[in-house]
Amino acid sequence: MAEFADQAYARLLSDIFTLEQLDAHPDSIFALDPGGRIVFVNAGWDAFARDNGGQPAVADRWGVGSNYLDALAPPLAPFYRELFARTPRYGTTLNPASHEYECSSATVYRRFAMLVYALPEDQGHLVVNSRSIERPHGPERKPRAPRASRYVDRNGLIHQCAHCRRVRHMSDGGRWDWVPDWVEHPQNNASHGLCPVCMDYYSLDAS
Ligand SMILES: [Zn+2]
Repeated sequence: MAEFADQAYARLLSDIFTLEQLDAHPDSIFALDPGGRIVFVNAGWDAFARDNGGQPAVADRWGVGSNYLDALAPPLAPFYRELFARTPRYGTTLNPASHEYECSSATVYRRFAMLVYALPEDQGHLVVNSRSIERPHGPERKPRAPRASRYVDRNGLIHQCAHCRRVRHMSDGGRWDWVPDWVEHPQNNASHGLCPVCMDYYSLDAS
């Protein structure tokens, strides 16, 4: 069911879109105000947020009224802030800003295409997330057991990539492993940075 933060955004979006169609859309859609606050979600986004955490706390973090940029893992926030800032203004182009990201579960590899449309008069953005790939993890994600001796550093921390969620191997620093248990059950002692591959992808210098 579509939800709005306030009537002003309900009016703004209904001037541009048919709200029933946005809500019934198979993709996960949300809208942000200029500061990144989530001001609209469709039923698809609600279901997506629930599926990706399975806990009410996760759905709250991504729900109407929360700030999208604050809900992201901290290393990813600057990238998205820049993506929204660089989105062409409403009415200037037919090509929205786009971005591909991974949102896998312990057993399923999933990628999403994100399209970002600016709202009129710089009032924020409408963001459409459509699933582009969904398949079981392949051989490149050989499942590893959650062994503290391999992955926990001397300070008691696990280094898990905030984007692909692989975990850094302690005695082989170049190696990042797929540990499904820690994807399914996020650990309190996980420090969320980015692995080298995702660091390159999310580096603003490279964009
Ligand atoms: Zn990564």
